[in-house]
Amino acid sequence: MPPLETANLLKLLLFVDERAATQGYAQEIQAYLQGLQQQDDFELEVLEISENPDLAEHFRLVAAPSLVKIYPAPRQTLAGGDLVAQVKRWWSQWLADVTSQGGDQAESDRYSVTQIRLAEDLFRLKRENAELNEQLQFKDQVLAMLAHDLRSPLTAAAIAVETLELAHTHEDPERAAQLKHQLYKHARTQFRVMNRMINDILQAAQGKNSGLNLQLRSLQLRPLCEDVLSQLTLRFAAKDLTLIQDIPQDLPDVYADGELIRQVLTNLLENAIKYTPPQGTITVAILHRTAQKVQVSVADTGLGIPAEKRDLIFEGHFRLKRDEAQEGFGIGLALCRKVIQAHYGNIWVDSTPQKGSCFQFTLPVYR
Ligand code: ADP
Repeated sequence: MPPLETANLLKLLLFVDERAATQGYAQEIQAYLQGLQQQDDFELEVLEISENPDLAEHFRLVAAPSLVKIYPAPRQTLAGGDLVAQVKRWWSQWLADVTSQGGDQAESDRYSVTQIRLAEDLFRLKRENAELNEQLQFKDQVLAMLAHDLRSPLTAAAIAVETLELAHTHEDPERAAQLKHQLYKHARTQFRVMNRMINDILQAAQGKNSGLNLQLRSLQLRPLCEDVLSQLTLRFAAKDLTLIQDIPQDLPDVYADGELIRQVLTNLLENAIKYTPPQGTITVAILHRTAQKVQVSVADTGLGIPAEKRDLIFEGHFRLKRDEAQEGFGIGLALCRKVIQAHYGNIWVDSTPQKGSCFQFTLPVYR
């Protein structure tokens, strides 16, 4: 067959499938077309539907055999067992249309199968390329974020170690020993912080394969928060809780999975509602923390969480004894942590017992 792009010809596609009846009709129409005088005036391409599902979908074909006239415009599809009769009816009109549109090479090219395929491939590749670029940028950003975060404990540990040298020269041996003890302790704490951060990073990397299947996109947090809050209006009203919102208008987008972040916000707000006595206050605030991070907080005026339990509640299947009477399974916060870690963010709780808890998490800014 000659390449489709070279001439202004009547262009026809014959779609067939494997059924015997279809094959029979297809052969009939092929034989008819091949027997025509005007062999130089048209091109026929025969396509097996199952091998070309994308094209069948493109032409919205529901039956086989189908004969699609793709040039000259407008596109026309003939289907059914009497294709020969239908073609006979249209043939002279089609040839006349080719002559009248004959000069328009660009129009002709637009309708070639190869062009359609290439355009579809190009579209898909462009999208994949954009997604990969976003992912690369995200990785760069995560690296910058981690370097930034690791620097604080590293600097603190370095200062402690440097100060240790000075402690050796202290005149009062008792004071020197005391100082050394404090500095060692400080350095150890900072090393532990770094260790935990590195563990978090490793877990986040694993999170990719842990069934979360993140769909990272540029995401606006403000409308998402407002939507989640609007779903909970009745729950707030039922306990006569006051809601305070502190979400800036000019918040940058984050790079996150909207559905999963919705789940995190919902979990935190449901907990805040559940664990805050009537007439309490719940505050949702978002802060553009650094160039790379946005920080979301959900604070309540509930009973708070004892210091020694603040890590445990994120472990999963852990509930405070006092809350065992409340409905729940102790998995909400573990899921929140898994989601946030998979975004290379952090989640934690600050709390003053008897006064309230403030759950916070960070997300990377979208650039
Ligand atoms: P669940 O609420 O189903 O028990 P979670 O994983 O969401 O599970 O929370 C774990 C535990 O942390 C809760 O059982 C509760 O003891 C404590 N907790 C969570 N959120 C709050 C909050 N806002 N105030 C006080 N305690 C909380």
